[in-house]
Amino acid sequence: MTILGLHAMVWVGGWSPEQCRQAIRLTAEAGYQLIEIPALEPESMDAVETRRALDEHGIQASCSLGLTTGTDVSSADPAIVERGEARLAAALNFAANVGARVLTGVIYSALTKYGQPATPEGRRNSVAAIRRLAEAARGRNVAIALEAVNRYETNLLNTAEQTVEFIEEVGVDNVYVHIDTYHMHIEEPSMREAVMTCSDRLGYVHVGESHRGYLGTGSVDFDGLFEALVETGYDGPIAFESFSSAVVSPLLSNQLGVWRNLWDDGMDLAVTARDFIEKGLGAAGA
Ligand code: MN
Repeated sequence: MTILGLHAMVWVGGWSPEQCRQAIRLTAEAGYQLIEIPALEPESMDAVETRRALDEHGIQASCSLGLTTGTDVSSADPAIVERGEARLAAALNFAANVGARVLTGVIYSALTKYGQPATPEGRRNSVAAIRRLAEAARGRNVAIALEAVNRYETNLLNTAEQTVEFIEEVGVDNVYVHIDTYHMHIEEPSMREAVMTCSDRLGYVHVGESHRGYLGTGSVDFDGLFEALVETGYDGPIAFESFSSAVVSPLLSNQLGVWRNLWDDGMDLAVTARDFIEKGLGAAGA
C-alpha cells in the first residue's frame, strides 16, 4: 500500500520549532501519512523537536534538498565536491535522526540552470559522492532517491532513463529513481514510458501540476501516471508538491522560480490534492 505525502512548503517556508510543529499537525489534519521536509540547511534544523512532532501526530517523514553551486558534487573542483558531500552527510544525519526512510532531491548536482553540459569528470565525481552517501545511508536505514528534474534545473539527470543508468553506475542497492510529473511533463515521452523505464528501481514519486498549483487544473497526464503506477504495483511514497508565492522559503523559492501566486489556502489545496490522487489511483484500479 502506497502512502501519500506532501511537501512542507504547502504550509511553511522554514523549519523553526514552531513551523515544524505547525506543518506536521496540518499534514495530519489534511489526511496525509507523510511529510517531505526540505533539508536545505540541515545543520540548523532541530531533529529532536521534529521527531517529537512526527511521533505525536503519527506522521512519517522524508527529506529532500537541492545542492547549490557552492556545494555541487558534480563540480570538477574537489573543494566544492567536498562541501557538497558534507552537506549531504548533514542531511543524511538529520533524516536518520527524525526516522525518515528516504533522502531525495537534486542531491547529485546543483539545482540550477547550468550554462553548459555536464562533463565526464563532473559526472564521475557525482557518481562517487552518491556511492559514498548511499553506503553511509545503508547503515542508518535510509534509502537514497535521485530526482530527475527538467533541463533548467540540472544538466545531469533530466529523465528516468538517465537516472536508471546513473544508478547502475553507482552500484549500491539502496539507491532509487525519484520521478516528478512536473518535470516529466517537459522531458519524458510519456508518464507511462517513464514509469516502465524505472521498473523496480522506482522509489519515490512527486505529483505536481504543470504550473505547480492545484492538481487537475494544468496539462499533466495524471491518468497515464496513475495507470502505470498501479500496473507496475508501485508501493512507495507518492508526495504532492506545490508552490505558491503565498509561502516563501528564503532559499527554495528562488531556486525553484516561485514567482506567482497559485493559491493562498494551503489546507484547501492539500485536501483537494489528496482527493484527486485517491480518486486517480482508484480509477486506475488500485
Ligand atoms: Mn519534485
